[in-house]
Amino acid sequence: MRNLMWKCEVCQRYTLHRTCPTCGSLTRNPHPPKFSPEDRFGKYRRMWKRDMLWKEV
Ligand SMILES: [Zn+2]
Repeated sequence: MRNLMWKCEVCQRYTLHRTCPTCGSLTRNPHPPKFSPEDRFGKYRRMWKRDMLWKEV
């Protein structure tokens, strides 16, 4: 395990547990796989464009 720290987005608190010891919310990985929203948008845009091309054929 590389990342042992989780973050409660409700309390903005880091913890070792998957549930926040303060509020009980599910904690999240504060270091998600690196990607940019623009890249993801570009991917969907390309998928959409490809789909449009297929429909035109
Ligand atoms: Zn919390």
